[in-house]
Amino acid sequence: MDSLKKHGFEVHYKPGLSREELLSIVENYNILVFRGRLKIDRGVIDRGANLKVLARYGIGLDNVDVEHAVKRGIAVVNAPSASAISVAELTIALMLTVYRRLYDFIHSVKCGEWSKGKHLGRELHGKKLGVIGFGRIGSRVAYYAKAFGMDIMVYDIRDVSEEVSKLGGVQVDLERLLSGADVVTLHVPLTPLTWHMINDKTLSMMRDGTVLVNTSRGEVIDTDALLKHVDRLGGVALDVLEQEPPKDEKIWRLVKHPNVVVTPHIGAETVEAMDRIADELVKNILEAVNWL
Ligand code: NAD
Repeated sequence: MDSLKKHGFEVHYKPGLSREELLSIVENYNILVFRGRLKIDRGVIDRGANLKVLARYGIGLDNVDVEHAVKRGIAVVNAPSASAISVAELTIALMLTVYRRLYDFIHSVKCGEWSKGKHLGRELHGKKLGVIGFGRIGSRVAYYAKAFGMDIMVYDIRDVSEEVSKLGGVQVDLERLLSGADVVTLHVPLTPLTWHMINDKTLSMMRDGTVLVNTSRGEVIDTDALLKHVDRLGGVALDVLEQEPPKDEKIWRLVKHPNVVVTPHIGAETVEAMDRIADELVKNILEAVNWL
């Protein structure tokens, strides 16, 4: 907000707007900067008669009707690179949390129990990591995992085999990745192709004991199917859910399952990522404004 003000914009801060409130004020604005799960759909876009730029504070544009906005001559910008480091670091932290059962140990000690000997953890070293989506975040996770001594397998719709081979890894098809990996980590955008990409059929391809980590979008995993397979997996770590915050009983059942660790969508919630997102977004807004 400070940076936009310095560039001469009049900025109004409206946290926690409901859809109805947004619909009632959107026509007063040329630029809409938004974060979270607020849907910027056709209804909002059509009501915004004076909109010139839609700016997502973050990466995911899955809650924006980009096609309709562009048809209406509205630029859509985001900050695609700014949070990759933070999300990749959280992904590694979640893998370690599951492999070393950190949640159980930390929680039990806090509850007054000296729980040494309760479980044996496992090392990441020498395990096979399956990275689904080798973009900004997935490639960084693979790079960090390599430093932990993991073997890298990648599935992506693009040919990324050359980049993957630089890490000593291989690009494989989805079935080979899911059946061969010790840890599967998801880094695809939410699209019609990736919606419920992890479903009963694909979960069945994973061996017992496989660890599943999702820091991408909740809807990439079919919650019902995951609930069916969760007991035989080696652990599940989720930063994202099909419903955030959880309300439905089945989502709570997943969150509270002893084999599941959940963080409340904090992938990009670091001081550094927030600063970088702001810088990248303001730059992209300025470019869009000059371009329009
Ligand atoms: P990116 O666009 O850089 O990379 C995505 C990769 O997925 C690309 O390599 C693309 O080719 C591949 N891909 C797309 N569709 C595919 C498909 N059907 N099958 C296989 N591969 C496919 O994206 P990114 O910046 O690395 O972000 C990855 C995910 O992380 C997104 O879902 C984003 O919304 C999410 N994210 C989460 C947080 C968080 O707080 N947890 C923060 C930022 C981003």
